[in-house]
Amino acid sequence: MEKLTNRSVAVDRSPMTFGERIYLPAIAKGLTITLGHIFKKKATVNYPEQKRPFSPVFRGLHILNRDEEGRERCTACGLCALACPAEAITMEAAERKPGEEHLYREEKYAAKYEINMLRCIFCGYCEEACPKDAVYLTETVMPSNYTRKSFIYKKEDLLIPHPKTQEAK
Ligand code: SF4
Ligand code: SF4
Repeated sequence: MEKLTNRSVAVDRSPMTFGERIYLPAIAKGLTITLGHIFKKKATVNYPEQKRPFSPVFRGLHILNRDEEGRERCTACGLCALACPAEAITMEAAERKPGEEHLYREEKYAAKYEINMLRCIFCGYCEEACPKDAVYLTETVMPSNYTRKSFIYKKEDLLIPHPKTQEAK
C-alpha cells in the first residue's frame, strides 16, 4: 500500500531484554526525571491566592458607561451588535419620554441590552464600533459560574453605578 507520508516509524517488535522485563531501570529513569523537576521553577501559580500580571492590552468584562451626569450613553444604534463577530450582543431600542432626560442622554436608548459572555471572544470590536463611548471592556476577569443563564449579562449587570448614588455612599 502506498504511504500517505514519509513520517511513519516501524514498531520495534523484538523481545524485551531482562532489564526491560523487570521494569526497574525504567522506574529509576522516571523518578530521576521527577526529582529533576522538584528543584526547577514552578510553571504554575497558586491561583486564586496568587495571580499573574495581565498584559496591558487585556480585555475583560464589559461595562455600559454613563455620562458625567449619570445618564445612559447608549442610544441603541446597534453598531456594536453589527461589529460583533460572535453575534453576542442583542438589544431593543426605546424612545425617551418627556421627563426622562435625566436618565438617557439621547432621544433613543436601549430598553434591553444583553451580552452572551459564552459567545463573546473579548475581541473589543464592540468598544471600537461604539460612536457614543458607551461600551467598554474592563480589566475584570469573567467570573466562572455553573449555569448558562448566568453568563447572559443584562443591562442592569453591565451599567456602571450612577455617579450621584455612589457619592451618597
Ligand atoms: S468583545 Fe467582541 S465578541 Fe465580545 S461582545 Fe464585543 S464584539 Fe462581540
Ligand atoms: S453600545 Fe454604543 S454601539 Fe452599541 S448600541 Fe449602544 S451606542 Fe450603539
